[in-house]
Amino acid sequence: MADHTPPREPDVTREQAEAAVRTLLRWAGDDPQREGLLDTPKRVVKAYREWFSGYAIDADEYLARTFEEVEGYDEMIVLRDIEYESHCEHHMAPIIGRVHVGYLPAGKVVGISKLARVVDAYAKRFQVQEKMTAQIAGCIQRALAPLGVAVVVEGEHECMTTRGVHKRGVSMVTSTMLGSFREDARTRAEFLQFIDTVARRR
Ligand SMILES: [Zn+2]
Repeated sequence: MADHTPPREPDVTREQAEAAVRTLLRWAGDDPQREGLLDTPKRVVKAYREWFSGYAIDADEYLARTFEEVEGYDEMIVLRDIEYESHCEHHMAPIIGRVHVGYLPAGKVVGISKLARVVDAYAKRFQVQEKMTAQIAGCIQRALAPLGVAVVVEGEHECMTTRGVHKRGVSMVTSTMLGSFREDARTRAEFLQFIDTVARRR
């Protein structure tokens, strides 16, 4: 998987970004000079730094530094319900959901907080859920070189719930299976049983 994208610096100034927010406020039909909106561009630009902080993180580099050697442990490791917030790249609208990760280690493991940070590195960008799913799996594959990786992502897309088709409570589920999870139906079934996404639906 060669979709590793190293961090890049934005090539616009804060002032330019704030001016763009004022333009969108006018486009929506409001007056950016109105009292209640005066500080809004500043707040939005600041919020963008948090929502899109993933562009500054090199997930590959991060994971390559933080794995642990555990010779002898060769059972499946499953981390489920890693929460994420992202934004769809088609509408810049929020995607809220969970990621479930499984892998069969070949000598290297990584802690849950590290994996959550890898999820954030990809989620906190403009995304397509299918792409994010593949990116998380690819990153783990490259850094830990396990026997297999499985990533399942659930996401509620606000571009679907607040506009367009207006469908509430619809969750999109995407998955990437690599190595033994792709080749061995039993391994895949064991993982899916662990995460049990359908039965746990709230
Ligand atoms: Zn969208």
